[in-house]
Amino acid sequence: MEEMIFASRQGRNIPKEDKIFGINNRAKAMIAKEGKEKVVNATIGALLDDEGELIVLSSVNDVFKNLSPKEFAEYAPISGTPEFREAVKQDALRSYEPKGHVVASATPGGTGAIRNTIANYTDRGDSILVADWYWAPYNTIAAEQGRKVETFAFFNGERKFNDADFRKKAEKLLLNQERLVVILNTPAHNPTGYSLTAEDWNNVKNIMETLPRQKKITLLVDVAYIDFAGDEDEYRTFLPILEKMPENVLPMLSHSLSKAYTLYGMRCGALICLAKTKEVAEEFKRVCEFSSRASWSNCARAPQTILSKIYGDPKLKAKVFEERQGYREMLLRRGKAFEEAADECGLEMVPFDAGFFASIPCQNPDQVAARLEKEGIFLVPLAKGLRVSIASVSEEVCRMLPAKILAAMETE
Ligand code: PLP
Repeated sequence: MEEMIFASRQGRNIPKEDKIFGINNRAKAMIAKEGKEKVVNATIGALLDDEGELIVLSSVNDVFKNLSPKEFAEYAPISGTPEFREAVKQDALRSYEPKGHVVASATPGGTGAIRNTIANYTDRGDSILVADWYWAPYNTIAAEQGRKVETFAFFNGERKFNDADFRKKAEKLLLNQERLVVILNTPAHNPTGYSLTAEDWNNVKNIMETLPRQKKITLLVDVAYIDFAGDEDEYRTFLPILEKMPENVLPMLSHSLSKAYTLYGMRCGALICLAKTKEVAEEFKRVCEFSSRASWSNCARAPQTILSKIYGDPKLKAKVFEERQGYREMLLRRGKAFEEAADECGLEMVPFDAGFFASIPCQNPDQVAARLEKEGIFLVPLAKGLRVSIASVSEEVCRMLPAKILAAMETE
C-alpha cells in the first residue's frame, strides 16, 4: 500500500478511483468518441429504459413536485418522522404482521442501514459474514469502522445455497468473537440475481439454532431489490421465518427507497428490527439514533414525506405500485432473455432468479472485461466473474450479450 500524504490510512485500503465509476467513465468516453450505438454500458446499478435513460416513476415525481417548502425544508427527527416510520414498516412488511416489536429507524438509503447495523451489533476488529459474491460496499463500510469481511461460498457443487459453508464460517467466527452480523442480500441478490428459496431459509434457521446460544447474532436481510424480484407478496413469504429464529438472533431488514421508488439520489431508507422483546427494541432505537447523530444526523425529509403521502392515499399508492409493476415486468423480461440466450450458447451463469444483475463465473475476469471493452461492451469484473447489469440495457441487448461474453472468454 502506498504512503498517504496528509491523511491517515487506519488500515483501510483506499483506492484512487471507485472501480465501477471508473469503468462507467470509460464507457462515457467511448460513447462521446464513437457514438451511443457502438457502446453497451452494462455497469450501472439503476433501472434505465431501452435508450439508456434513467427511469423515474412519474407518480413519485408528481408527489415530489407538489411538496410544500415545509415538507422538505424542515429538519426531520433523527430516526425519521413518525409518519415515515410507520409507512416504511408497511412498505417493507406489507401484509405481514410480526408478533414481536418492530422498530424502524430512518437512514440515508440501504447503505446507512448497513452502516448502523455494523456499527452497533459488532465489536471493533470483528468480521461480518457475507456470501462470496457480494456487493463491494459491504467491505468498504466494514473497513471504515475497523471491521473485516469473511465470506462463505454462496453455492455448492449442485448450484444450491451452500448451507454447509455458511454454517462452517459462522461457527469459525463465533469461536473468536462475541457478536456476529450476517448479511443476506435477497431476493434478487446483487451481483448474481439469486433469491433464497424457502428451503434455503429453513436451512438458515436450522443453522442459527445450532450456533452457540450465548453469542449475539444479527441477521440482516438486505432487501434493496425486493420490489423488483417478482410478485411483491410472494417475495415476502420468508418474513415469518425470521421470527422463528432463536432468542439470540436479532433479525433486521435493510430497506431502501432507491430502487423501489426511483429515489436513488434522495438517499432514503430504513433499518428495521424485528425484536422479540421491548427492551431489545428500545435499545435498537437508542443505538440507531446515536449512530445517526454521529454520522449524518437527520435524513432528508422530502423522501420521507413522499413515502408517507403514498401510504396515506390508497389511490396514489395503487398508481405507484402499478407503474412500478410495468417496469418490473420489463426488467424480468430482460432477465429471461439473458438467461435464454446464455442457455442457447452454453454460457454458464451463477444461479439466477431475478433483479438488476446477473453474474458469469470466469477465470480471468479483468482480462475478459478488458477484451469486451475493446468491442464497446462494458461489464464489471469481480473477484470470481463478471457482473452484467441487465437493468441498464435493453431486452435486445440481453439477447445478444451472452454469446459475446462467451466468445471473449474463449479468446486466449
Ligand atoms: N444493498 C445492495 C446489495 C445494493 O446493491 C444497494 C445499492 O446499490 C444497496 C444495498 C443500497 O443502496 P442505497 O444506499 O442507494 O439505498
